[in-house]
Order: sequence, then C-alpha cells, then structure tokens
Amino acid sequence: MKILETNGVSYTLYKASRTSVSITVKRDGSVHVRAPYWMTRSQVEHFVQQKTAWIRVRQQAVQQEPALPPAGRELEQLKKQAAEKFRELALPWEHRFKERYGVAPQRWTVRLMDTRWGSCSLKTGRITLNLRLLYKLDDCIEYIIVHELCHLLVPGHDKRFYTLLEQELPDWKSRKKRLNG
Ligand SMILES: [Zn+2]
Repeated sequence: MKILETNGVSYTLYKASRTSVSITVKRDGSVHVRAPYWMTRSQVEHFVQQKTAWIRVRQQAVQQEPALPPAGRELEQLKKQAAEKFRELALPWEHRFKERYGVAPQRWTVRLMDTRWGSCSLKTGRITLNLRLLYKLDDCIEYIIVHELCHLLVPGHDKRFYTLLEQELPDWKSRKKRLNG
C-alpha cells in the first residue's frame, strides 16, 4: 500500500492478484486504486491520469451527498432542517397553484426514500419529499416541488401532466438532468 499523487490527485495504491486496475472514490473523497502486481508504477500513473476527470466528478458527487446519520435524534433534526428549507422553496409555488388552479396540498412531509425524489397522494393530499434533496441545488428541489404540485391536478405522467409541468416550469428538463446527473 502506497500513497501516490498523479495530476494533483492523491490516492492509495494497493497491489493485488488481479488482472485489471480499479479506481474507487470513497464517501470522504479519498481515492483507492487497485492494480495487478505486474503493473509498473508509470503504467498505474498513466491509468490514473486518464481517469482524472472521472475521479474529480466522482469526488464532487460523493461530497455533495454526505452519508446520512443513522435513525435517531440527529436524523430527525436533519429532517426538520430539510422541512424548513423545502417549505421556504415550496411556499410561493403553493400560493401560485392555489390561485391559478384552486388546489393545495394538505401537508408536506419529509422522508428518507431510496427510489423516488417525491410523491403525491391524492387520497391524503400529502406531498412527500425525499430528505436526500437537502443535498441538491435549490433549482432541482424546486423542480420536484412543482412536479408533485402538478400531480394534484393530473395524477399520472400523461401528456396533460407534461403540458402542465412545461407551462409552470419551462426549464424542468434541464433541472431534472442536473438533479439526476
Ligand atoms: Zn410524478
């Protein structure tokens, strides 16, 4: 195990009995390179050099979304902070939808979800936002807020839904891309 630096990227090099090189970027942004025993130092450096851009992108991605605390007081606090932030972003949109379309959610909630950024239940009138949005740009959070508000009028993702979304948030596509990119 050696700590090396190539192209301004420092990484820990592990030699192992393997056939190819692998690069892992950990949650703390540290870089781990695993290479076969037979590979020379300059071959490893060449490989890392080629991957520099990818490493930087991964570092940014993992650092933007820190590991969430386990269930407990700290997580509940985070949910509260998220609820406040989302509320602030949602309020003008909530007013707009009420004025224009006469609809408003009964409640906003924040939950930790694995597969969805948000959901809207017409039965309960509740809009749920994913806690993970806390680590996303306001633009992207706003996109989810507007998306879910549109569901108060159109439940599915049919043409009517996208017409409405487009009307309310003409640049929704680029926001969505940034959110998931
Ligand atoms: Zn939807």
